[in-house]
Amino acid sequence: MQFNHEHRSGYKKSAKSKKLPAKYEDMQYKKPTFKVWHLPYLEWEQNYRSYFKKYYGDTNLKLNPSMIVMHYTVIPTVEGTYRALSRNEVSVQLMVGPDGTIYELMPLNRRCTGAYGVNHVALSIEMVASTESDLLSRSKQVFASFCLVKYLMAKYDIPLSKIVAHYEVSEGKKRVPEYTDLYDKVYPDRYPPSSARLDPGPTYMNWLRSYLKENPPSREDL
Ligand SMILES: [Zn+2]
Repeated sequence: MQFNHEHRSGYKKSAKSKKLPAKYEDMQYKKPTFKVWHLPYLEWEQNYRSYFKKYYGDTNLKLNPSMIVMHYTVIPTVEGTYRALSRNEVSVQLMVGPDGTIYELMPLNRRCTGAYGVNHVALSIEMVASTESDLLSRSKQVFASFCLVKYLMAKYDIPLSKIVAHYEVSEGKKRVPEYTDLYDKVYPDRYPPSSARLDPGPTYMNWLRSYLKENPPSREDL
């Protein structure tokens, strides 16, 4: 999560297996249900309009999602994450708790500020975890995130190539052509090196992509 691309520390690399563990192949897809816990986003409307004008060139707050960005929070609890987002006027549409509960923090048709560079086109999903290893250790949470992405891909007709990690967004236009930054004149095409992201990690992304390849989204998921 982030409002701009200032440096945040706390991300740790993980050295786990690249292959999707067999246990996920035995788990049954379940259509996600959302627990509505909206951020006070209506109070932020004027600031958000200025933000989108400054970085993306328009004041539109409506979102028609064509990309999904995956994150983890670094903050270890759902309450702590909600408080940090509220305090900083930062938003994501969805958050997956450690027990697999999915929280809708904002309507899905509304732009958030979670992934600098692609907030004009992307939904952002935060997974509550301190590190990638922490996240990978909780199979209920990991599987809930797989089902959520599968569902959203089916709902909005988003291809697998548009499911990206925050660390891939931070690499900018060469990795994610939709990347837009009308404000930063020094690094208009990517995050500054000091702001590079690691979330949610390459192992998580490998697992997610192999799950989605083996279980392609379809109308039946809706
Ligand atoms: Zn992130």
